[in-house]
Amino acid sequence: MDAPAHFPISCDVAIVGAGVSGCFIARELSRYRLEIVIIERDSDVCSGASKGNGGAVHSGANTEPNTLKARLCVEGNARFPSLAEELSFPLKTVGSLIIARNESEKPHLEQLLQWAQANRVPDCRIIDSAEIKRLEPNVKAVAALFAPTLRITCPHRFVFALADNAFENGVKFLLDTTVTDIEVRRGKVTAVITDRGRINAKVVINAAGVHADRIAEMAGVRDFDIIPRRGEYYVLDKRVQLVSRNIFPVPTKVTKGTCVFPSIDGNNLIGPNADIVDDRDDTSTSASVKEAIIRTVKQFVPSLPEGEIIAAFAGVRATSDSGDFIIGHTRVDGFINVAGIQSPGLTASPAIAEMVVNLVGEKLRLTRNPKFRPERKRPKRFADCSVEERKALIARDARHSRIVCRCEMVTEKEIIDAIHLGLGARTINGIKFRTRAGMGRCQGGFCRFRVAQILARELNKPLTEVTLRGRKSFLFAGRVPQLSTT
Ligand SMILES: Cc1cc2nc3c(=O)[nH]c(=O)nc-3n(C[C@H](O)[C@H](O)[C@H](O)COP(=O)(O)OP(=O)(O)OC[C@H]3O[C@@H](n4cnc5c(N)ncnc54)[C@H](O)[C@@H]3O)c2cc1C
Repeated sequence: MDAPAHFPISCDVAIVGAGVSGCFIARELSRYRLEIVIIERDSDVCSGASKGNGGAVHSGANTEPNTLKARLCVEGNARFPSLAEELSFPLKTVGSLIIARNESEKPHLEQLLQWAQANRVPDCRIIDSAEIKRLEPNVKAVAALFAPTLRITCPHRFVFALADNAFENGVKFLLDTTVTDIEVRRGKVTAVITDRGRINAKVVINAAGVHADRIAEMAGVRDFDIIPRRGEYYVLDKRVQLVSRNIFPVPTKVTKGTCVFPSIDGNNLIGPNADIVDDRDDTSTSASVKEAIIRTVKQFVPSLPEGEIIAAFAGVRATSDSGDFIIGHTRVDGFINVAGIQSPGLTASPAIAEMVVNLVGEKLRLTRNPKFRPERKRPKRFADCSVEERKALIARDARHSRIVCRCEMVTEKEIIDAIHLGLGARTINGIKFRTRAGMGRCQGGFCRFRVAQILARELNKPLTEVTLRGRKSFLFAGRVPQLSTT
């Protein structure tokens, strides 16, 4: 973790928002000799839409052609295999089926095949119900568009990998820091004002997700509105294995539809919906949406066992009023928008970052940083190792023999590494999203207290100062004297 910040700070590039867009841009800019600061109001990176999504690296087959999001989606998808190698995050190519549930939906598949061809999505074809049965025995459909290049990843570990790599290449992260104003003088951006102090910057990148229109307004260039659309997901227990590919219905004007799909960590999930919400930061879930999602999925996966749902989460999409990504210079010199980054923003992030580096290059001289290291290597998860590999890990470090999260088999050594390597976790949720401790069937019932104890010990602070997700989310008020044994 970085040394404490002393304000005012001066930098070349200030990035507002540490989601996948901000972190990828920071990482790509760290290839050059630049002072880069990334400002995030939350206590950790990957806290907005980048946390609450389905983790699909979309093929681009169900994205409308001749849009920026379609082009950047297909370009981004192709870059994931080498990125996963370079940055040690999990990735698997599983493919997807966009299904016609009945005869009347069949003509949509022909149109989607044309979209796929226009978007240059490789190897797409329409398959019949017999082939669907062979590929996905639990799916009921009359035909489908098969797109083999859809991949799945863990969105959290992907963004943490980008942030770690940016951090290790010299990017300064200001967490728990809210941007409150943008200073513009004589038509040029000069500084970002935050609740902790001032950051002088030559270029400011607005990657603030659902709040991007408000940040643009601070700079006096609110030329678009964000329409926040919430999507809820429901996670099934690992023993329920319904599908091995992402199964989508035909898309609507606003969403790719409610689907059923495998996660990279072995769960099947159902969702999302796409409802407009008033509160952009409200990621609550509701019984009524859950029931609607179950009803929809049962139309094409009738054997869905709804009693096996173990967790729910939601994310809010930053849909722009134009419906497309908004990436580019503005009337304020040096103020760049990376806004309206709705789905498939996670997929498109490598191509978005490349595009933004070119925009920055039009404002600042970019010279290569000879110290830049593209790799961020991390070992395989203990849970994914063979018995022999586990024995070797334990022989090397006995802390691997202490299993802290039993459901997801996370060791004490992995939790310690999550605290001390790279940007480093500071909260219980920070540990959860880096290691999966607390993401299994018991949802942290067994391990949460033990994770808190390790955090307190490693960060050298009392247990009462450990938080769930930063700020004032304390879990422990103090000791109960009558029960204390130590
Ligand atoms: C339900 C759902 C499902 C999705 N599924 C997929 C999928 O399967 N595949 C895919 O490719 N994409 C998917 N997406 C889209 C993808 O998640 C987003 O496109 C992507 O995460 C956007 O990243 P971002 O960095 O632009 O925004 P965010 O991740 O939202 O980051 C913006 C950050 O800015 C910070 N911020 C805001 N205001 C301020 C301020 N004033 N000061 C400081 N910081 C501030 C926020 O705290 C936040 O961390 C999905 C999205 C949702 C919501």
